[in-house]
Formats: sequence, C-alpha cells, structure tokens
Amino acid sequence: MTTISNRLQDILATIQSAKAATQCQQQVNLLAVSKAQPASAIREAYTAGQAMFGENYLQEALQKQTELTDLPIEWHFIGPIQSNKTQLIAQNFSWVHSVDRLKIAQRLNDARPANLAPLQVCLQVNASNEESKSGVTQHELVDLAAAFSNFPRLKLRGLMAIPAPSHDKNIQRTQFKQVRECYDALLAKGFALDTLSIGMSDDYPIAIEQGATIVRIGSALFGARKSLESLMVNI
Ligand SMILES: *Cc1c(COP(=O)(O)O)cnc(C)c1O
Repeated sequence: MTTISNRLQDILATIQSAKAATQCQQQVNLLAVSKAQPASAIREAYTAGQAMFGENYLQEALQKQTELTDLPIEWHFIGPIQSNKTQLIAQNFSWVHSVDRLKIAQRLNDARPANLAPLQVCLQVNASNEESKSGVTQHELVDLAAAFSNFPRLKLRGLMAIPAPSHDKNIQRTQFKQVRECYDALLAKGFALDTLSIGMSDDYPIAIEQGATIVRIGSALFGARKSLESLMVNI
C-alpha cells in the first residue's frame, strides 16, 4: 500500500526535477492541502517531514487544530472568506491565500492579535478573468495591493490563483503565465513580493515551470477526498 510518506517523497522529487528545469530555480514550498482529511492523516504527513498545511473550511480546520496542538504546524487558510469568519482566521492561521477584497483585508488586519507576527497574505487573482469566478480581476489588483500600506498587521507576500481545471497542458500553462504576468507587473511597480501560490495535484510541474513558489497539493498526497457533498454534511 502506498503511504502518505511514500507519496510525499514522490511529490518532493517531482518538485525538485520541475524546479531544476526552470531558469530561475526559485525556492518551491509544498503546502499540503488537508481539507476533508482527518487529523490523523495530517499527523502522519507531519511525521514524514511536512510542516505546512492548508485548509479551506474554518470550522473543520479549527477542529483539527485542537487535535494537533502538540505539533508546530504552519497553518494556511486557502478557502473562500466570509466577513464573519475573519476574526477566527486572523487568530488561528499564519497565512491566508484567498484575500480578494478590501473589506476582508481590513477586517483581517483589525483582528490580527498583537502578540502574533503579521498575517502573511496572498491576493487571489481571477486567472481566467471571467466575471463569475472568485478572485480579484487584473485591473483591480494594483489598487488592492497598494491598500496594504494601511494594514500594519498584514504582510502582502504575493498572489494565489485557482485556474479553471483543464487537462490540456497548454491551457494550464497559459493560465499560469497570466498570473505570473500579474505578479511581474506588481514587482515592476515596486511591490516587494516573493510568493506565487499556483499549482495543484494535476498541474504543479507546469506551475513550477511558470514560477510557482508554493504548490498546494491535496489528493496527490493524501489520496482522493470524500465527495464534496459528504464533506458538507460534516462541517
Ligand atoms: C482543494 C484545493 C487544492 C488541492 O487540490 P488537489 O487537486 O487535491 O491537489 C489546492 N488549492 C485550493 C484552493 C483547494 O481548494
């Protein structure tokens, strides 16, 4: 049987070879996406050497955090954020990848406890630029990034995107490239960013080729998740 530890080693090896093939050979960190996985699976991955975990649903994440307080895990929030969840997110996570509007940034800033380091933030961009998808559109991005000068309790680190799923490598590449271009445009305007959070189980080698510094991987590490419907019953 393939264990989480075996899969972790395979993913880390794939990350290394994808990185070696890029020109800049940027640092690439693995974020283990543990939504719909039990605390025991997180513990197993941690024991195998994985320290960064990403969760999408606040209540599910808080429940697992209380079961894992003995482990110095770095928790990342990567799911959609409703206003009434900002306080608990600001109190219980080191990173948030999914900030897509000013009001949410303001609330996270105001709620970040003074005894914790600033909350590390990525802006979620709408990679396909379709009005229906969540994420900041490319033309809203600069204004939102500039507003972070008013948020001392937040540290803007970069961009995150969830491109429309596709099995076509050229489409994957084009979508990641668009996000990369938004990122480069912000760098050119003087924003000090170092994080591009793109790439999931099906496409992370291509995301790394396009400059990913964090890949967010769930099913390739933990195995298939329960269906979303059965998950919703549990949260
Ligand atoms: C579920 C999820 C992932 C991981 O997806 P896999 O295809 O299982 O690797 C990454 N990012 C976000 C925002 C997710 O919701």
